[in-house]
Amino acid sequence: IDFEHCGFPEALNHNLKKSGYEVPTPIQMQMIPVGLLGRDILASADTGSGKTAAFLLPVIIRALFESQAPSALVLTPTRELAVQIERQAKELMSGLPRMKTVLLVGGLPLPPQLHRLRQHVKVIIATPGRLLDIIKQSSVELSGIKIVVVDEADTMLKMGFQQQVLDILENVPDDCQTILVSATIPTSIEQLTSQLLDNPVRIIT
Ligand code: AMP
Repeated sequence: IDFEHCGFPEALNHNLKKSGYEVPTPIQMQMIPVGLLGRDILASADTGSGKTAAFLLPVIIRALFESQAPSALVLTPTRELAVQIERQAKELMSGLPRMKTVLLVGGLPLPPQLHRLRQHVKVIIATPGRLLDIIKQSSVELSGIKIVVVDEADTMLKMGFQQQVLDILENVPDDCQTILVSATIPTSIEQLTSQLLDNPVRIIT
């Protein structure tokens, strides 16, 4: 099995090849088809497993075929992780039409982020605190979001972001596809799963 047989748009196949992605990793092999079907997912996956591309590919395909902007949201606990995710997203989205990303993260000036947000961006990559600030000042419209990823969910909880994540997800449509990725699945993640996910496919590696 390789990515060329996934039926992705030509530009995406090209980008995958250019990034050196030819054979999907095990987590990608499991998450991508289920993600493309639109199902909610609980996945246990560590850094280094290829989890970022495993959630970004369903995000990109979904956003590509949606006219609404923004239509996809990726939440991650730290600015550094957000920057890495955006870098990978940009590599994979290069040459795809009308696909822009925005980073909404703390520790960087807000005005440029708000400016970028107004430019028909399809994919938001955010840390919880900054995104919640922007939601509270009514500077973002999340009613068109079709797919949400909560990355490093266990770290989110450890950093005390649980309520912020729940508050953010109150602002996305109920029928939104939700993907939760966590290195470990303690009881607290099981609880978050039952709060946020609808009949999820569990991918435990
Ligand atoms: P992650 O687990 O998402 O942090 O990814 C770990 C590293 O593996 C990143 O540098 C990715 O660019 C790389 N990677 C992800 N998927 C593949 C793949 N299918 N083939 C080769 N490299 C990959």
